Amino acid sequence: MLRPSQVQFYAKKAENKNYRFRSWLKMHADPDDLDAQFLRLHKELFSGYDCSRCRNCCKHYCGTIPAEDVERDAEHLHMSADAFVEKYLDSPADQETGSYNTKHKPCDFLDDQENCILGDCVPQNCLDYPYTDKPDRMESLLSFLETVAVCPVAYEICERLKGHYGFQ
Ligand code: SF4
Ligand code: SF4
Repeated sequence: MLRPSQVQFYAKKAENKNYRFRSWLKMHADPDDLDAQFLRLHKELFSGYDCSRCRNCCKHYCGTIPAEDVERDAEHLHMSADAFVEKYLDSPADQETGSYNTKHKPCDFLDDQENCILGDCVPQNCLDYPYTDKPDRMESLLSFLETVAVCPVAYEICERLKGHYGFQ
């Protein structure tokens, strides 16, 4: 597995090949089998991985906080909802998604020790990243290639998938 600091460099090197692999999967892979391979590799590779030693996803993106989480998150930080939004979030929330983005990237909730100060209130979308255990992977291969450039586990999943399908 690559170190978190290596992922961006190696993903850039592999970028063209990864786009060719995406096209190859679209043409040749069975969608159900692809989901099964993603799920197998996700379980295998995340089972021994300590995300607290990485946090690339928190560093490369803004945080996204659903509007319905705001009260709970503010309470967790002993603040009013208004003060929470004022301090951490771009306001107003996105009309389409109903979510707020944090003001900055890296995410404003990442502390100096690279822990998320939201603790047990971490948004579901953060827990779900890089979505490699979700169904319908065939329809999300472009998004997957974005995660390959950020997440060492997603990068490794991509490499193992190439091996599984015999893609050169
Ligand atoms: S909310 Fe927490 S887990 Fe989500 S991106 Fe920000 S620091 Fe990371
Ligand atoms: S999900 Fe991926 S990018 Fe985020 S901390 Fe875990 S290994 Fe790193």
